[in-house]
Order: sequence, then structure tokens, then C-alpha cells
Amino acid sequence: MTQQVLIAGGGIGGLAAALACSRAGCQVRLYERAPAFSEVGAGIQMGPNVVRVLQGWDLETALREVAAFPDRLQVRHALSGAELGVLRLGRTAEQRYGAPYATIHRADLHQLLRAALQPRDAVWLHTGRTVTRYAEAPEAVGVQLDDGREGEGDVLIGADGLWSRVRSQLLDDGPPRVAGHLAYRAMLPQVSLPAALRSQQVTAWLGPRLHVVQYPVRGGEWLNVVAIVHGHVHGGLEDWDHSANAADLQAHLASTCAGLRTLIEAIPDWRLWVLCDRPPVSGAQQLARGRVALLGDAAHPMRPYLAQGAGMAIEDAAELARQLAQADGVLDVPTLLQRYALNRWQRCARVQARSIRNGEIFHLEGPMAWARDASLRLLGERLLDLPWLYRGA
Ligand SMILES: Cc1cc2nc3c(=O)[nH]c(=O)nc-3n(C[C@H](O)[C@H](O)[C@H](O)COP(=O)(O)OP(=O)(O)OC[C@H]3O[C@@H](n4cnc5c(N)ncnc54)[C@H](O)[C@@H]3O)c2cc1C
Repeated sequence: MTQQVLIAGGGIGGLAAALACSRAGCQVRLYERAPAFSEVGAGIQMGPNVVRVLQGWDLETALREVAAFPDRLQVRHALSGAELGVLRLGRTAEQRYGAPYATIHRADLHQLLRAALQPRDAVWLHTGRTVTRYAEAPEAVGVQLDDGREGEGDVLIGADGLWSRVRSQLLDDGPPRVAGHLAYRAMLPQVSLPAALRSQQVTAWLGPRLHVVQYPVRGGEWLNVVAIVHGHVHGGLEDWDHSANAADLQAHLASTCAGLRTLIEAIPDWRLWVLCDRPPVSGAQQLARGRVALLGDAAHPMRPYLAQGAGMAIEDAAELARQLAQADGVLDVPTLLQRYALNRWQRCARVQARSIRNGEIFHLEGPMAWARDASLRLLGERLLDLPWLYRGA
């Protein structure tokens, strides 16, 4: 039975859902509120669990053209610069998990998903249309759009991000919480940096109440840098994407080692994000009810300290489509969405909880930081490798 799938939101999660559902034989109508599809200028890391899903959608060749595939992840002390531990990626990750660890410009991933959708029949992507409400009936679900139009389908997927309207109607559980952390992000061609600052590996610098992560994107030609510090800003948080004051960031990192400071000082332009999340999902009923399912940040927004927010959105999309492919007149849509929710909520909750814990560990001070560093020196890869995550759902 062909399912008519409506999707609110055309970020990485929404596009992944559109592709997965289309491949599963569904008709797809996606509504994105922005006037044109676009993604912010920032990178994302994708563990083997995520790359494997993309391979399953025949995107490996396209991914190889635009992503980088670092050989190692190195953890360093932000104050001393000392190496604390290394996780081998590259071939080692491929041998362990059957797929590589990739780092990619968000816009390249977004474009790659859109290109995969282009030749597909029965997929309609609408920009400049905001989903304002939905209404559910026993046999269908309808959406209202801000331009007065309406849409109707068998399923509504809320992939409308952190400030999801679909979620607020479905769960009515208030806004996300402010994490108290700020993310400064920058991306620049490696050739614009002195040779000593260029890098083809993932490096995480851990320091008191701060950490910095850097990795290559665009086949290694560009470098993505994210610096997380404790702090707050005033004003509305929705759609936050502000240009940042480089001097503020330099002040936050004033006590860090020369190697890290030199990198930060070599980068002129930064963007600033206020990080928000929600407590880990506590049950399947938070991911789907009736004919409506949530996915990605709409469902389980997380702190970025496990680098898996977009990854979980992509895994969600794959599982949702796997369920919808089984619609056969016997299993109805609400049952299939329940199965999606049951299969996803615990993994997503675990990733959310681990992301929070990672942030606490990364930012430790005093004797606790010393204990962290000693453990990393002693156990290195055994602490940094995460088979439960990278093996996939
Ligand atoms: C500093 C930082 C670093 C990160 N690093 C990583 C990483 O390394 N790896 C990783 O996997 N993840 C990472 N993440 C997380 C990742 O960015 C998010 O989890 C992911 O982008 C969520 O995708 P999404 O499609 O669910 O939501 P979004 O990307 O927010 O997309 C939602 C879309 O819905 C649209 N929309 C909103 N409301 C409506 C509406 N009412 N109607 C129609 N359209 C609507 C929006 O315009 C947007 O296009 C990071 C996040 C941050 C902040």
C-alpha cells in the first residue's frame, strides 16, 4: 500500500526521511519554511553507524567525493597541549564496523541528500512553507501551512528541529532548555592557515569549562573548528546564528596552550550558537502518537558532545522508512509508528545522556580533570571507542 508521507522540515533529518521513505515506496511531500534549501556553514562528524546508513542508500560514491575520512581522533589537553589518547579511525574503523568515520560540511551532506531525491518520482519538496498546525482524523492527517494552503497524508513526520511546532502540538512539553554552553564555529580553507596549523585528523582539546574540536571537511581542503565555552547570551534563541566577536573567544581561551591559541587567533570569522537540549527521551510515547512521528532534533535534541545529533536523525529516518515499508493493510500506520518509536527511543536516550556526560567530562577542573587525563593516558582507545554506538542500531 503506498503511504502518503508529509514531512515538516527540510534539514538533514527531513531530507533523510524523504529519501528513506521514497526508497521504501512512499509518496513524499516535504515542507521547508526557509525560502530556499540551505545549511549553515559548519561541519559534522559521522560515525560508522551513520555512514553505513548512507551506504545503504547508495550514497557512498557521492560521500567519497565531498567528505573527509580522518585516520585518527586525537585527544589533547587544552592547557598543556599534551596528547592524552588516540582513537584510530580510517581503515581501523572500517575493519571494526564495516564503514568509515567521516567528517563533512553540512551543506555538502544536505546537497548530497537533495541530489539523491531529485530523480525520484512522487517526491515534492516545497520551500517557503511553514507547517503551523496539524489535524488528525482516523484515516488521515492534515497540515495547515502559513500561506493558507493545506496538505493531507497518511503520516506526518515532524522533522522541524529544536523549536518544533509539530512537537509542541503533539507533546505540549514546553521549550528546550538552555545548556549554559556557547559554541563558536568557524570553517576555512586549510591553505589560508600556516602549514603547522593545517590538519587531517580529528582533534579534541579538553580544558577547564571549555573544549575545542577541529577536523577536516571537503576532502580535507577545509578545516572546521568548534570551540565550546560556558556562558549565556540575552535575547531570542530561535534561529540563532550570530556573527561572534573573535576577541571574546580569545579571552575565553587565554589560558590555553600556545598551539591552540595560535589556531584560534589565526581564524578571523566566527559564528556563535547558544546550545540547547532536552532531557533524554523517557519513553516511546515521546517519539510518536497516532499518525504523527517526531525525528531528529524535534524528537531528541542533544548537546553535540558525542557528535551524533544529525546521525541519530539519519538513523531515525532509516527506521521510520523500514516500518512504513511494511504497511500492508494489516498493520496500520499508528502501529507502525509505534514500532518505530519503540525501536528508537532507548538508543536516542542513551546518546542524549552520553552527550551530556561527555560535556561534563570534557570540562572537568582540578583533581577530577587529573583523574580523567590519567584514565585517558592509561586506557586511550578503550575509552574512546564506542562499539555500542558505532555498530549501529
Ligand atoms: C555546535 C554543534 C555541533 C554539532 N556537531 C554534530 C556532529 O558532529 N555530528 C552530528 O551528527 N550532529 C552534530 N550536531 C547536531 C546536528 O546539527 C543536529 O542534530 C541536526 O542538524 C538536526 O537535524 P534536523 O533535521 O533534525 O533539524 P534542523 O537541522 O534544525 O532542521 C529543521 C528544519 O526544519 C525547518 N523548519 C522549522 N520549523 C518548521 C515548520 N514549522 N515548518 C516547516 N519547516 C520548518 C527549519 O528551517 C530547518 O530547515 C551539532 C550541533 C551543534 C549545535
